Amino acid sequence: MTDSASDRRSVAASNGRSDAGSGPARRSDAASGPAPRSDAAAGPAPRSDPDATPLLGLNNIEVLYDDVILVLRGLSLEVAEGGIAALLGSNGAGKTTTLKAISGLLYVEDGEVSDGTIVFDGEEIQGMDAHRIVEKGVFQVLEGRRVFEHLTVRENLLAGGYTRGTRRGLNADADKVYHYFPALAERRGQLAGHLSGGEQQMLALGRALMASPRMMLLDEPSLGLAPMLVESIFEIVRRINREEGTTILLVEQNARVALSVADYGYIMEGGRVVLEGAAEELRTNEDVKEFYLGLGDGGRRSYRDVKHYRRRKRWLS
Ligand code: ATP
Repeated sequence: MTDSASDRRSVAASNGRSDAGSGPARRSDAASGPAPRSDAAAGPAPRSDPDATPLLGLNNIEVLYDDVILVLRGLSLEVAEGGIAALLGSNGAGKTTTLKAISGLLYVEDGEVSDGTIVFDGEEIQGMDAHRIVEKGVFQVLEGRRVFEHLTVRENLLAGGYTRGTRRGLNADADKVYHYFPALAERRGQLAGHLSGGEQQMLALGRALMASPRMMLLDEPSLGLAPMLVESIFEIVRRINREEGTTILLVEQNARVALSVADYGYIMEGGRVVLEGAAEELRTNEDVKEFYLGLGDGGRRSYRDVKHYRRRKRWLS
């Protein structure tokens, strides 16, 4: 057995706890401050479909910025092949850091995966160069609709397909993007900087689609968009997942919309996962309703309330 195969098995094995079906898992090792490394060994609870193969597994990873700032503290999660997993949590929980650890982009900010393994399709990828991770089929759509503003829509798309080779192939891939995003087809000759916020988000997603990735890492696609636009963008994300078979890890602050498209969810606090479960279970979980969906019995709570109540959250007690 290769090292990577054994690691992959250990990710799967850590999911074999017997509390399946009892609702979202609770983690007793979570704490609001820094936690000792030894308690990070508690693996994730079972997924909703224990037979699904994980395409991606993060195994007790730690991330350090500037050699000293510990941001991820033994984070474990996995995403089933062909699935959509949502990674939720409040500001500063470590969601974007998690995506950058996977895509190899931490180095840009002097960060590194200092412990643990990230296994993609059976191979350890932590610490690998970002371009090699893209070649393996993992594509991150960064927060904030990063498009090349001085290039046209079409040129942006062609830039996204740089790993794909022939011109004919690129044209076919661009047509595929226009199929999902007809608004981009109408504006293919227009400068990206002149597009609306929603159209720029579509272009960022379309550029990722050009690489025909096996896995997309989406960082807050709803950010700054009107609710109707958010709904339609997430509907397209769901179609891409179903029709292209693209596995998706979705970081969102908008828990309601994220849990409506995901089949599994993880909630992060302080650099680790504190709650996870099937999306349907999380949607109806009282803690999640209270703190992330604003639907607790006492009505919608403000962020100040959330901070106040965080100290006595049931999954931390
Ligand atoms: P948000 O929803 O606000 O984007 P997040 O959950 O994505 O938050 P991260 O951006 O991953 O959180 O940040 C997690 C923690 O790491 C924060 O405390 C942040 O200040 C810290 N952090 C992020 N980037 C760096 C960096 N380059 N150097 C030092 N600390 C950083």
